[in-house]
Amino acid sequence: MVEINWHVVNNGLDFLESAVELLEAGGEREVKYAALHLSASIETLLKVRLAREHWTLVVADPREARRTKYESGDFKSVPIDQALDRLVNIAGVAISDEDIKRIKSLNRTRNQIAHFALIAENPLATRATVARAMEALLRFIEKQLAPGASLEERKIIDATYSHVMEQIRQIEVMVRERMNSLKPIIAQADVPVVKCPECLQDAYLFSDGTAGKCLFCSYNKSGFVAAADYATNILGEDEYSTIKDGGEWIVSQCHLCADTALVDGIITTARMKATQGCFGCGYFGDRDALEQCSRCNAWTEAEPDSVAVCSDCWDYMISRD
Ligand SMILES: [Zn+2]
Ligand SMILES: [Zn+2]
Ligand SMILES: [Zn+2]
Repeated sequence: MVEINWHVVNNGLDFLESAVELLEAGGEREVKYAALHLSASIETLLKVRLAREHWTLVVADPREARRTKYESGDFKSVPIDQALDRLVNIAGVAISDEDIKRIKSLNRTRNQIAHFALIAENPLATRATVARAMEALLRFIEKQLAPGASLEERKIIDATYSHVMEQIRQIEVMVRERMNSLKPIIAQADVPVVKCPECLQDAYLFSDGTAGKCLFCSYNKSGFVAAADYATNILGEDEYSTIKDGGEWIVSQCHLCADTALVDGIITTARMKATQGCFGCGYFGDRDALEQCSRCNAWTEAEPDSVAVCSDCWDYMISRD
């Protein structure tokens, strides 16, 4: 087995330690920096594992990898999302889908901070995102890095581990309290409730007529953005590879509002059950309520005993007569 560079691991653990201290400090500003430091920690530690497979995997474009530049640290390295892909698909490292979602969710928060976008109005939501990604990182350290550690390294890992776990538990309690307070509204909602594409909590309420909203993190992007986010972040689908493989993308034009926001395969978690829903206008129903138009594949209301044709195609056919 190739040597692990423990100096780099300790660097990654140091970022993690800093992130947890910032979380403890608790202010809004500190939480923001906790997200950045945790992201640096994850990036560093994922790359340690990639380098163990082969050093060129750490380079953004392996075709441009040069050993001398690598040794001196003068190269563009692989971003977190791609590092995860390479770990799973090339190195065969087992990371659960759930943990990948947690890390990607933190990565989105990191990017929002770095690109001056507003982060969640609710600081607890950011704390929760940070805490969940921390837990995923701990599992990664345990399974992928700790087994090769010397006694001395093991001590450092264990100390970090217990400190981080304690903070994660505290945040979990706060999140549970907040979710409990939302429970009555969620349970009684007259609209479908699904996992929030941003914070991953079961708290995104479809809306009547306008865009839906997450009760936990206040996420309320417009229909087509929320639909794409849901398909990618919650269902784990990828438009590019779906279409490349000749499949049909699960987000399509809504038959009611015409927004590209109708998702086929939503998973509802409360009273209102549905398998299809529009993140734009709030339409929801079961798959057999709609049929795909026989001419253009667009979803249209199913009518028994007749071939499905959407209104656009009808109009077109009539105009030609
Ligand atoms: Zn949310
Ligand atoms: Zn719609
Ligand atoms: Zn049609």
